[in-house]
Amino acid sequence: MSGATIIDGARYAEDLKLEVADEMAAAVACGARPGLATVLIGGDASAQAYERRLRRLADELGCRYVCELLPADVEEAEAVATVGKLDADPRVSGILVLRPLPDHIAEVALYRALDPLKDVESVHPVNAGLLALDRPRYVPSTPASCFHILDRYLLASGRDPAGFYARSTIVVVGRSANVGKPALHLGLSRHATVISCDEHTHRAGRLREYTRAADVLIVAAGVPGLIDGGHVRDGVIAIDVGINAVPGPNGMRLVGDLDQASVAARAEALTPVPGGVGPVTDVWLLRNTVAAAVHDLGSDDARPTAAGRRLAALPVRRSA
Ligand code: NAD
Repeated sequence: MSGATIIDGARYAEDLKLEVADEMAAAVACGARPGLATVLIGGDASAQAYERRLRRLADELGCRYVCELLPADVEEAEAVATVGKLDADPRVSGILVLRPLPDHIAEVALYRALDPLKDVESVHPVNAGLLALDRPRYVPSTPASCFHILDRYLLASGRDPAGFYARSTIVVVGRSANVGKPALHLGLSRHATVISCDEHTHRAGRLREYTRAADVLIVAAGVPGLIDGGHVRDGVIAIDVGINAVPGPNGMRLVGDLDQASVAARAEALTPVPGGVGPVTDVWLLRNTVAAAVHDLGSDDARPTAAGRRLAALPVRRSA
């Protein structure tokens, strides 16, 4: 492997956790009561692992946490009703519907049932629209994590992120409503030139043509080793969102969508899997949950008290 910088997402996550702990303390001091609820349907191993990580993190940060577990064969109407129950629960400020869902349940049915103020992943049509209009209520955690890592890495290497993005081409591989599309919007809001590729680009044999144009490559396809050294240009900064379980010598192991060794031979920097985007994503979701609790208090109003000033200083609209 070459001298590419392997960006330490776990360290960035630890730093971000300190910030979120401060935000949590300020929110609680002002009367906010952050609480995260997840909805887990069925027994998908990656969704279960994510649920456990969030439970631990919420516990560590002193955030109330509840998981609604539903069987894989639950009726869609009952799943929608569960979301409605959480919408009405004043102890819950943020709700996450864990993916993947069983085939018979439409994601959009659950997303539309979310109270937009509790929709901390911005999947409700109103919040997705606000994000597309560059007025996000909450910046969804995975694309937020990508840009948080990029911003920090650029600053640490002596570059002004704003100037860098304006001169750069960002290519996003994967176009899901949860990751790829919001990442496109975040790139556009930074005045980058943004290109979107998905499986159709791949099938048309044109993926490499676009990925090789990237100054920054964000890959969120869920295909192990999709992008290798032949897909990137020298000096690329590559952000690997993919999390894929593949057989290894000692059982299953996690890999990303990058073929790390061959990409590292050409890249300036890349994020590893595990230990890159994932840890920051988890913390960001808790950050949005705190922001949602602050929303509950109507903190957009000017408040003359010291507590109010602390509250007003909390980052309700996230800039990542
Ligand atoms: P998804 O299945 O909803 O979407 C995948 C996207 O990739 C689609 O747009 C699809 O067209 C595209 N794609 C599939 N095969 C492709 C190919 N061969 N070439 C180009 N594009 C292709 O998945 P998602 O929810 O967006 O997640 C993507 C990956 O990111 C998964 O591995 C998931 O586990 C991971 N993930 C990681 C985090 C994190 O915090 N690190 C968070 C969410 C998802």
